[in-house]
Amino acid sequence: MIVSKFGGSSVADADQIKKVKAILENDDRRRIAVVSAPGKRTREDEKITDLLYKCNKLVQNGQTCRPVFNEISKRFIQIAQKLKIDDARLSERLDDIRCMIDAGRGADYAASRGEYLSALVISEYLGWEFLDAEEAIVINQDSTVNESTYERLKEKLDPEKRYVIPGFYGETEQGVLKTFTRGGSDITGSIVARAVGAELYENWTDVSGIYRADPRIVENAEVIPVISYKEVRELSDVGASVFHEEAIAPIYSAGIPINVRNTNRPEDPGTMIVREEESTWPIGVSARGGLSRIRLRKLMFFKKYGMRHALLTMLHIFGIRPCYSLFGIDSIVWFFDSRMASESVCQAMCDRLSKEFGLDAISVDHGHAILGVVGGNIEGSGAYLKVLEGLREKGVETTFVNCGSSEASMLIGIKEEQTAEAVKAAYSSLF
Ligand code: ASP
Repeated sequence: MIVSKFGGSSVADADQIKKVKAILENDDRRRIAVVSAPGKRTREDEKITDLLYKCNKLVQNGQTCRPVFNEISKRFIQIAQKLKIDDARLSERLDDIRCMIDAGRGADYAASRGEYLSALVISEYLGWEFLDAEEAIVINQDSTVNESTYERLKEKLDPEKRYVIPGFYGETEQGVLKTFTRGGSDITGSIVARAVGAELYENWTDVSGIYRADPRIVENAEVIPVISYKEVRELSDVGASVFHEEAIAPIYSAGIPINVRNTNRPEDPGTMIVREEESTWPIGVSARGGLSRIRLRKLMFFKKYGMRHALLTMLHIFGIRPCYSLFGIDSIVWFFDSRMASESVCQAMCDRLSKEFGLDAISVDHGHAILGVVGGNIEGSGAYLKVLEGLREKGVETTFVNCGSSEASMLIGIKEEQTAEAVKAAYSSLF
């Protein structure tokens, strides 16, 4: 059996949903479809999920969500009419949902309704069963998947039937509706694939696979034919957004291959993500921007056991969770997502740390990015030397080099404004 997940762009309107039908009907092994909420139809368009979060914001601010929700209703009704399915029942459901959002059911409930409605409409169009994710997918408080999910899904899914399941949400053990993080329908697809022991998990999107570099930066960048689970996680951690990095965990032990495919070009083979793949040369480059840097220094400070931990605890109090760290004999550098703290929070954090720990120096600056070179035998192949040489030739300034914390990637600190040059230089020195 094949489990096929369709992302937001694949179900953005009726014409896209017709393509989904053709794909599903083209291979009898495709028996379960996991769907996202309708995404953008054009670059300027808004995703249904974003509109739903907006609805919840309005309600939080004491207003009705009606004006924004009307846009959502219009889109779903238009899809239903074009697909010639019953729009009267859908209208009733839309009204009920609007009332619930207005009544203050919260962000997770609101956001989940995009997937819920999408799956309802698509199941009706295909004539497949609808299975609500709330009935089967149990999400722990830390957003990991509760093991009971797999048994529940097996119980609910009759192998003789075909199903459409909404992605992105489930419920907690206490029965409260909960979503995964953004893009989380990929995780639902993995969970379902593992539960039914699928031979393949297809992930249908609007690009023909995972590229060696962002094609908006590197024209004619190649698609990666085969990549390992580990490499895809590393690549998404440094900004490549095709596949959710948390979606690997559910299928890791089962080793189910994932095929990233293009709904608009179903003839393209896409990228295969497999458990083991020994590449001897890097397979891709990507960069993640929007980072700020904390640098602090104090003589002999780290001789005392537990000081790093104490500093980190203090950062957490200010809502800062660093994503990269570098340690020196008397210093530490942390990078964090700039959205985590405003300028005034950064200032307050510096003052507090300085006072509390008697630091010699502490500063925060912004506009950083991290370039990741992923795959292959990074240390042994000498690839990292080529990349550094390429960056130097193009005048890209580097703030740090980390080669060795993972055998499958090398990370290089750069200035955010030089991201495009850095990606281009790394790509052309490797491929
Ligand atoms: N609709 C959700 C989002 O936009 C989840 C998903 O598409 O995977 O993040």
